[in-house]
Amino acid sequence: MTTTQDGRPAPDGPESGPAPEPGASAGTAAPLPAEAGQVSEKEARRVAEAARESTWDRPSFGKELFLGRFRLDLIDPWPRSDPDDVARAEEFLGQLRSFVTSEVDGAAIERDASIPDSVFHGLADLGAFGMKIDRKYGGLGLSNLHYCRALMLAGSASPAIGALLSAHQSIGVPQPLKMFGTAEQKQRFLPRLAAGEVSAFLLTEPDVGSDPARLATTAEPTVDGTGYRLNGVKLWATNGTVATLLVVMARVPTEGRRGGITAFVVDGDSAGITVERRNEFVGLRGLENSLTRFHDVFVPAENVIGREGKGLKIALTTLNTGRLSLPAMCVGAGKWALHVARGWAADRVQWGRPVGEHEAVAQKLSFIAATTYGMETMLDLCCLLADDDRNDIRIEAALVKLYASEMAWKIADELVQIRGGRGYETADSLAARGERPANVEQVLRDLRINRIFEGSTEIMHLLIAREAVDAHLSVAGDIIDPEAGLGRKARAGARAGAFYARWLPTLTVGKGQSPSAYAEFGPLAGHLRQVERSSRKLARSTFYAMSRWQGKMERKQAFLGRIVDIGAELFAMSAVCVRASAERDSHPENVELADLFCRQARVRVDALFAALWDNTDSVDTAAAKRILAGRYASVEEGVVTPSAELPWVARWEPGPSTAEDVRRRIPPKP
Ligand SMILES: Cc1cc2nc3c(=O)[nH]c(=O)nc-3n(C[C@H](O)[C@H](O)[C@H](O)COP(=O)(O)OP(=O)(O)OC[C@H]3O[C@@H](n4cnc5c(N)ncnc54)[C@H](O)[C@@H]3O)c2cc1C
Repeated sequence: MTTTQDGRPAPDGPESGPAPEPGASAGTAAPLPAEAGQVSEKEARRVAEAARESTWDRPSFGKELFLGRFRLDLIDPWPRSDPDDVARAEEFLGQLRSFVTSEVDGAAIERDASIPDSVFHGLADLGAFGMKIDRKYGGLGLSNLHYCRALMLAGSASPAIGALLSAHQSIGVPQPLKMFGTAEQKQRFLPRLAAGEVSAFLLTEPDVGSDPARLATTAEPTVDGTGYRLNGVKLWATNGTVATLLVVMARVPTEGRRGGITAFVVDGDSAGITVERRNEFVGLRGLENSLTRFHDVFVPAENVIGREGKGLKIALTTLNTGRLSLPAMCVGAGKWALHVARGWAADRVQWGRPVGEHEAVAQKLSFIAATTYGMETMLDLCCLLADDDRNDIRIEAALVKLYASEMAWKIADELVQIRGGRGYETADSLAARGERPANVEQVLRDLRINRIFEGSTEIMHLLIAREAVDAHLSVAGDIIDPEAGLGRKARAGARAGAFYARWLPTLTVGKGQSPSAYAEFGPLAGHLRQVERSSRKLARSTFYAMSRWQGKMERKQAFLGRIVDIGAELFAMSAVCVRASAERDSHPENVELADLFCRQARVRVDALFAALWDNTDSVDTAAAKRILAGRYASVEEGVVTPSAELPWVARWEPGPSTAEDVRRRIPPKP
């Protein structure tokens, strides 16, 4: 499987992913260009697979973990930041903290659904739009660790600001240019961005969600060869209403040239661009999110990032570290939730005790505290490994995005419950009654999107599963490939025989079986032994499933999802044990927290292992077919449903815009 746009993995299972049937997501067929028109499942997978980074040049803790090899040495000792970087970053974080506490009114942004111009100016003055841009281009050159800390801080003041900064830097123009831009492109664009211009990333279209093979925006080379003409409609671009520089994914025709899906830097003021709508959502009300139309928009040839056909690969590679920004916001939400839960649950007395002392609430408090520590530790570890550049972190970063977005949502839900009726009440309403305006319901709403964008949970499961079984596919993929001829199958058979003869015996015995193993981790040693044993069990389960289902394994999404979820828990357990041990002198209490986290994680891991083989997966899949066919439609009777006058997916036609341009121009600072 591979990924798409803003980091979403392209749909395929371990072998390649199950892509939706052509047109399955659309109530009406949007007009796709000939090359994207009839996108078969096979083509969708091919596009996704081609966008994948296929090589592993550096070690990967996550990859080894899924293969049953618990390489603790890859994360222990706990990595450290460069002290010079830390000093510079701390200074910036201090300035950011005083700015967001004194100048940002999160409640007003929520109420007005708008981030004021003054906040854009203030952030620009601080250099916040250049956090990830090298200092030689006027940026702050922050490490991943400190960039994420800044997002966490800004996002806790206003999640809309967190999303603004993150979309600008993690998927917008700075990161792909940093990784793939030419020296000339960097020189031309990065100083503008570092100074405060906002960027956006435009991949999604009405008919392109998780499946980039359907991409319909075209980039037609001009006859004189100086550039391209872009035509198409892009949906849900975060920052799209305010951005002055855009990364746009468009399809270059392949006749007589390389062509394919290509990434362009596009000036937001180019003729032919219309921001037709500012979209509104359940949460993140301050988000400047657009529906943008391109009509014959000229883009010079020198604005291609990388080269033609590399657009999706660039997007995916960018996301290896870009994906860390959403978990940063989730960690921030966890910290905030713990603060509110602790204060409230100690103060609120019902049935003769503070509510936090009733076991049902105590469990939730314990979950919020342990999970926040776990998420933060996973995130910090990923950032430190990325900063160190010694390890390949594509699996770990994907795991922390998946894990943190799911767990933060659970934390917010539990927090609403702990707060009772006040959890459901808005901050303004609480304040009007003279109570502390803890905007718990808003946090719940704001967090929900993290499970959908930059790779939905379903797609992240497939993406990670694809990487987790990569070693198997490399040696044995041809055996289960229906298109492989006898010769390829025979060669794969020989390769697989040699690989499995060496590998399988390593799964039976390991360090985790020795009662004295990992003794240097003191009270946490038992958890590491458990991780080592579970890693081998995970690899055995995966191998068994592959032998059983072979080519059909890619369809076993529920099974694969559990495999990935187990991997995420094991990664988190490893991270907290290493960190808490490393910091036991300065933070002895965190050893308790790590132990708590691991105990809770072990319960989840046990349940996931049990569900691998004891579940309702096949009956659910069969039932879904009948549901889709309308067999149980009578169950829907008795309620009012959305009008069927409009389609599920709106049609669009190429051509000039007939809508008013609703772009918001941030005026220069007075
Ligand atoms: C607030 C917001 C901000 C956004 N910002 C940006 C942005 O800045 N730039 C940008 O380009 N896009 C952006 N997006 C788009 C976002 O990335 C997509 O919503 C996301 O990729 C999912 O696509 P979709 O909504 O079309 O869902 P679909 O692809 O239609 O999927 C619907 C459901 O089916 C599941 N699904 C789809 N395919 C599979 C499969 N093969 N196997 C299993 N399950 C599957 C999905 O997980 C989902 O649950 C944003 C969206 C929102 C709502």
